[in-house]
Amino acid sequence: MLHQTDQFQEIRGAVRALCAGFPDEYFRKIDAERGYPDEFVDALMRDGWLSAMIPQEYGGSGLGLTAASVIMEEINRCGGNSGAVHGQMYNMGTLLRNGSESQKAQYLPSIAAGKLRIQSMAVTEPTAGTDTTKLKTTAVRKGDRYIVNGQKVWISRVQHSDLMILLARTTPLAEVKKKSDGISVFIVDVKQAMTTGMRVRPIPNMVNHETNELFFDNLEVPVDNLIGEEGRGFKYILDGLNAERTLIAAECIGDGYWFIERATKYANERVVFDRPIGKNQGVQFPIADAYIEVEAANLMRFKAAELFGAEANMAKYLAAKASWEAANVCVQTHGGFGFACEYSVERKFRETRLYQVAPISTNLIYSYVAEHLLGLPRSF
Ligand SMILES: Cc1cc2nc3c(=O)[nH]c(=O)nc-3n(C[C@H](O)[C@H](O)[C@H](O)COP(=O)(O)OP(=O)(O)OC[C@H]3O[C@@H](n4cnc5c(N)ncnc54)[C@H](O)[C@@H]3O)c2cc1C
Repeated sequence: MLHQTDQFQEIRGAVRALCAGFPDEYFRKIDAERGYPDEFVDALMRDGWLSAMIPQEYGGSGLGLTAASVIMEEINRCGGNSGAVHGQMYNMGTLLRNGSESQKAQYLPSIAAGKLRIQSMAVTEPTAGTDTTKLKTTAVRKGDRYIVNGQKVWISRVQHSDLMILLARTTPLAEVKKKSDGISVFIVDVKQAMTTGMRVRPIPNMVNHETNELFFDNLEVPVDNLIGEEGRGFKYILDGLNAERTLIAAECIGDGYWFIERATKYANERVVFDRPIGKNQGVQFPIADAYIEVEAANLMRFKAAELFGAEANMAKYLAAKASWEAANVCVQTHGGFGFACEYSVERKFRETRLYQVAPISTNLIYSYVAEHLLGLPRSF
């Protein structure tokens, strides 16, 4: 809301104060250089914002998903790009829910203290695409190690992470009863892996999103790094998706408000034909329309954070759509200046576009709703 009042004002205020130290020019420069916002990420980690969902017993602040989503929203609403950091907030969930006590004790306090980065999760593969159970990366047990071979694609923040959650098949597809069985989750030490069997090839892309192809050639992962039970990894990853989707929805909401605020400001200031362009209903109605859509999506986002169920997918769908529509309106309102890097509109426009494709594409949300909520026949 443009005049937002909720019980998270303290968090909003503190995150905004931090973000004020990283204005448009900071992110514009990083974007132009295709760099990584190290100072920004360090500041967020230092102040504990990214450990919001880690329980207090492990050194986190033990805030709920709603509060965590407010943090992500505020980053984007202030003009930043939470895509550089969001993994640190939710990737640890798999470890927290499914890891052994000793794994949790080993990693979580350092993650909470900002000393260990767990920014990466490696699921997507070039041939399997969205059909995750067809993934071809294998992890074969040999004594006290698993030997990993295969390939991943679009794996983000690997070069800015110490740990990576890896999904690999431990039992061949032909030997399992259900296609989702036989897949396991591992925690991988990134730096070590990069010298012993994991090759990283960056993918230049539309947004300044550090994302990579990964090639595994007999990478050895200690058995102790298996999370939970062998063969149940697909379920573990699915269990974490509601949190991920809700946080992404909040990021889109933040983007949406940013676009609307910028569009409104520009429409009030820019004078053409002797009057502010915002006086024309052809300019103001699309902004009002985008605002209504963002507000509606925001309600679903709060519902999703509270219920932790199917609403997460729907909130992500609505928020990604609303932020993209707001982005379009913002560019249109700015006319030619919508394309000028100086206004940051074109950067945010590119950044928010991603969320209709990743971490789940719109069609797959339709498919989930159609089959799981409406009981329509499975199409694949
Ligand atoms: C910048 C970026 C960062 C990413 N970061 C990560 C990451 O950190 N870790 C990770 O594991 N992955 C990551 N991804 C991958 C992302 O999750 C996938 O790109 C996304 O899930 C879509 O998968 P795909 O690209 O293989 O598309 P495909 O599965 O090839 O699908 C292509 C298109 O076809 C549609 N489609 C496919 N099948 C159907 C069907 N049956 N019915 C209707 N439509 C269908 C899809 O909706 C999509 O629009 C990232 C992607 C990008 C672009």
